[in-house]
This record gives sequence, C-alpha cells and structure tokens, in this order.
Amino acid sequence: MILNVAVPNEFSALRVITLASDAACAHRLASALSGLGVLPLANVESLDALQAWLEDSPVDVIVCEIRPECGDGLMLPSVLKARHESGKLAQFPGIFWMGETTLGTPGGAIDSARTFAHEKPGKPLWIKYMGGVAVSALESHARLARAAGIFVEIVREGGTLDLGDALRATVLTRVQPDPSLRKNTFDALAEDEVIHALTTGDGLRFVFQPQFELLSRRIVGAEALVRWKHPRFGEVPPSVLMPLVNRLGLDLLLFSLVEMWTIKVMLSLKRANIQIPIAVNASAKTICTPNFAGRLAARMRQAELPNRLLKIELTEDVSEPNELYLSASLTAIRAKGFQVSMDDFGTGAATFALLANLSFDEMKIDGSFVRGVEQHSSSRNVIAGIVNWARLLNLSLVAEGIEDESTIPLLHRLGCRIGQGYALARPMEIDAFLNFVTQQNSATTSAG
Ligand code: C2E
Ligand code: MG
Ligand code: MG
Repeated sequence: MILNVAVPNEFSALRVITLASDAACAHRLASALSGLGVLPLANVESLDALQAWLEDSPVDVIVCEIRPECGDGLMLPSVLKARHESGKLAQFPGIFWMGETTLGTPGGAIDSARTFAHEKPGKPLWIKYMGGVAVSALESHARLARAAGIFVEIVREGGTLDLGDALRATVLTRVQPDPSLRKNTFDALAEDEVIHALTTGDGLRFVFQPQFELLSRRIVGAEALVRWKHPRFGEVPPSVLMPLVNRLGLDLLLFSLVEMWTIKVMLSLKRANIQIPIAVNASAKTICTPNFAGRLAARMRQAELPNRLLKIELTEDVSEPNELYLSASLTAIRAKGFQVSMDDFGTGAATFALLANLSFDEMKIDGSFVRGVEQHSSSRNVIAGIVNWARLLNLSLVAEGIEDESTIPLLHRLGCRIGQGYALARPMEIDAFLNFVTQQNSATTSAG
C-alpha cells in the first residue's frame, strides 16, 4: 500500500503557521493539520513572535486555539489589521479558530457534563462556548473581521466547516466582504460593537483614579477603570458594558487590556521613581481562569515590575458557584505576591465565607455606605463594623465613593485611613493621571 506522504496534495501550496503559547496546544494543532497532509511552517508562541515572523515570511493561514486562559487568538484580527494599515502586511492571512466546544449558562461555570437541576423545566438557557467564549460572540467577531477583509473561520464540531473545508476555502477564495452583514438585529449589532471595541480597542480607554491616605492626602494607590465611547451613543458606562462583556465571555480579554495599560502606567511611574500599587478589577470567573496567577506573574516579570504593585479587585458582578475553587485561585494569586482586594464590600453576602478564609489583603467599603455616612447612623454603624472586621482579619481598608470633603474627617474618626472618590480626585486619563501623581509626589517630597 502506498501512503500519500510527501505527495503534494491540494493544500501543499498553503503556508500555514500555528499560534499557541504552550507546546501541548501547538502539538494538538499540528496533529490536526498533519492529518490533512499540512505541515505547519512554525509555531509562534505569542502575538509579538507572530509579528516578528510576519516581518520576514508571508503566511496564508494562522491556526490558533481559543482557550480560556489566552486571548491571543481573539486579538489576532486587530493585530493583522493594524499591520495592514501601517503598510506592513500586503495581504491578510486567513485565521482559523479551533477549540473545544462546551455548553454552559451565561455567567455560570462552563462544563459540558454539568446538569442544572435547579433550572425551571422548559426554560433552560444553554449557550455554546468555545474555549470560554460564547460561540455567538466568536461568530459576530468573525463576521466583523470578514467585513474588514480578514477571512476568519471557526472550526468546531457541528460547525459549518471542518478543518479541511476551511483550508479548501482558503485555497479557492480570497476574502470577500459580506454585504449581508449590515442586516444585523440590534442585539447582534450591540454584541458586534462590544466585540469590535474589545478586539480592536476602538473607542476604548482606561482611566485611573488615585487613592489617598485621608490624613496626609498622600497618594497611596490607584484603580484602573474602563471607558467605552460608542460611535453613536457616546460614553457607555461600565455598568452597561460589563454585563455585555461577561455575557460574551470576553472578561479575560478586557482584563488583559486593562492589565496591559496598567503595566504601561506602572512603567511610566517607575521612571519617575514612584511605586504605588494599581488595582485592576476582575470577576470571579476571570480570576478562576486556569493559571491566572502564573500568567500575571509572567507579564510582571517581563515588565520587570514587582508583583506587589499589582492589586486584583474581586468584583461581584459574576458569581462563582465554586467558592473553594475561587479561594484556591485567590490564594495562588497572593502566594505570588500580588495583593487581592474585595470590591464593594457590604453589598453582597456570598463573600463572607471567602473573607473568613483569609483570601484577601484588602476590603473596599461600598460607596453607598460612604455616601450616607453623615445622614444615616446605620451607615456609620456598618462602616464601624467593617473597620472592626478589617482589624480582626488584618486587612487594609479603602473607603470608596467619597463625594464630599466634609465626610473625610468623619470617615477618619470611624477608622478609615485610605479613601477614593470624587472629593479627592476623579478617574483621569493616563497622561493627566501621570502628571497628577508626579506633581503630588514632588510636592510631598519637597514638603518632607
Ligand atoms: P468599582 O470597581 O467599584 O469602581 C468604582 C466606581 O466608582 C467607578 O465607576 C468610579 O468611577 C466610581 N467612583 C469613583 N469615585 C466616585 C464618587 O465619589 N462617587 C461616585 N458616585 N462614584 C465614584 P465606574 O468606572 O463607572 O465603574 C463601575 C463598575 O464597573 C466598577 O465598580 C467595576 O465593578 C466595573 N468596572 C469598571 N471598569 C472595569 C474594568 O476594567 N474591568 C472590570 N472587570 N470591571 C470594571
Ligand atoms: Mg473596583
Ligand atoms: Mg467598588
């Protein structure tokens, strides 16, 4: 019997590379391709390595896996688009997203084998995910990329194309924008727009709000916050954006973007000899991403920044049913020297067990108590109680949402030492923030 090894096949003219940050994943992709007689030219481990490869070698197809712990595949269309716009890429390679598909419920843990006994019969809301991202979101993103001239194919079980078909389509066709795209429903459009913003960065900004020692007014930290300016609706508040981001399974991608900008800000501060921790918000689902702590540590190491400067704020916008797993993830983050803060303390009950588990370094008192501190004795009592808890558990405390200068002495008397709010400083664009911090720092240094 003669095997068709080394015999040119229909795909032999294709120049294919894989994008995978780890060897096991690269091996999986290479095996799938070799089953069709395609030998990838190389595996590149990161978007930077991909850019370096593209400098010298044109490529027809980039195959990557969509995985919960890696947003590189999702970023790929925008990276290629940027290269194209800067004249560094004549023709777009095709992008194939591959990955395991699972069923899950929005915001819930993703598990193909999971049953939802508590759900009312007849009303199950099952969503297909690939590598933690809703397949509908991937499809919208792929449509947008195609409209921009980039051929993106989602290769999955039960999907429209298998790997062979996708390779064949690349051989036979070059990218054609799809005019039917414009007939999206409003919902799909909103999803498309969120995906577009996150993957291209269009309309997305990151602002930084300083945190102060209340007595001295020294800046002791900051929080990074996302801002999105919609092309037609203007500024969309995070309270609207975040549920969409979470529903689409794009929370890790957003986290990576905030983290990237936060590291840039930290490096600028380092050059000015200022080292203050900066907090980045993350949902429980993001924090429970496999190897979250390891990935964070690798980024900080690469930037030559100490881990203690990055603080992770656990928001309560996505509940994590598996508290034990969340606790393990938080512990792993802290073990690497990052600080962990519990955001909006006092507004959710599910986190008391975690708090008792000593998984945190800091609590942030929710602004709703802080704003009522002068008028309502109940708010004062809650704050005094939280201050005691923090002391008992050896946690630091930040009072959020301080809108009135007049509340600051009262908060201080109640035991709050650190605060954040419009009365102290609003969230600022990066340049304004850097100027503000460096000026305050030199004022404090010369005064001291
Ligand atoms: P948060 O983490 O509790 O952030 C504090 C919020 O309070 C921010 O709202 C900030 O702009 C606002 N704030 C600060 N000082 C004052 C004040 O004195 N008065 C009032 N009324 N508000 C004040 P923002 O930026 O609208 O964010 C809302 C929430 O959205 C955040 O609450 C956080 O849970 C989420 N969020 C924002 N950015 C991100 C992000 O990059 N990633 C994630 N996962 N969540 C984010
Ligand atoms: Mg926060
Ligand atoms: Mg908060």
